[in-house]
Amino acid sequence: MKPKDYRSDLEPVWCSGCGDFGVLKGLTQALSDLSVPPERLALISGIGCSSRLPGYTRSYAFNSIHGRALPIATGLKLARPELTVLVVGGDGDGFSIGLGHLPHTIRRDVRITYAVLDNGIYGLTKGQASPTSAVDFKRTRGLAGADERPLNPVLLVLASGAGFVARTHAGNLPHLRSMFRAALEYPGFAFVHVLAGCVTYQKPAYAEEIYRRCDLLPEDYDPTDFERANQAARDERFQLGILYRREPGVRPAAAGADYTHAAGLWTIDGVAEPTTPGEAD
Ligand code: SF4
Repeated sequence: MKPKDYRSDLEPVWCSGCGDFGVLKGLTQALSDLSVPPERLALISGIGCSSRLPGYTRSYAFNSIHGRALPIATGLKLARPELTVLVVGGDGDGFSIGLGHLPHTIRRDVRITYAVLDNGIYGLTKGQASPTSAVDFKRTRGLAGADERPLNPVLLVLASGAGFVARTHAGNLPHLRSMFRAALEYPGFAFVHVLAGCVTYQKPAYAEEIYRRCDLLPEDYDPTDFERANQAARDERFQLGILYRREPGVRPAAAGADYTHAAGLWTIDGVAEPTTPGEAD
């Protein structure tokens, strides 16, 4: 199937120039590359401009409730494991009201791709600051605590133990396409941070400023290096590419401890914790 065959008959109502158009295009290209049958594809979203995206695809689609796309997608994948399940949404939906679901979905490691189209603003409700808005944006607009630091989504998902973490830009279609392809092929929870622009409510120079801050990861970058991925996530500049990819079945080494689950006991660094007080004596 060609990319256009993954489009529904609905015309997007996004503003002309919105970064979400690029994401729709790159995603349909990746689906075409992987020959995903539309009848085996389900796109789930919450609420927001980018959460309209499922309606523009030829797939099963559920534009659900604010911040709740991940648990809905998890339930769907568990009930219908043969489906390719993709969640799309914005930074407000995913990192504000929906944030509590993110680390728990990562812990469950169900095979879902989660793409957050991050434009640092609530677009649908006309321009409030989101958890990823810069401090200067908040000061200018006065729509949030003036000194609230922006959240670092990539650092957050790495610390939660995600096995696949990529970052891309809505204006770089070949890159976007390849990141979606790699995420959809990963046999566990895959997170894609998509930098996108909001041409209507962000400051006019925002999209260009973000684009100028992007670098492709160097060719010798090793995506299995967890410490290196954390460095890349902290970088002032946005590193684009597969920041981290853990081989399936390898235990996560997140937040400095190595947690695993075996025989009904949680263990830390291979040492079982007592299930009841005094049992270790
Ligand atoms: Fe895109 Fe912003 Fe328009 Fe929403 S308000 S469709 S995010 S440009």
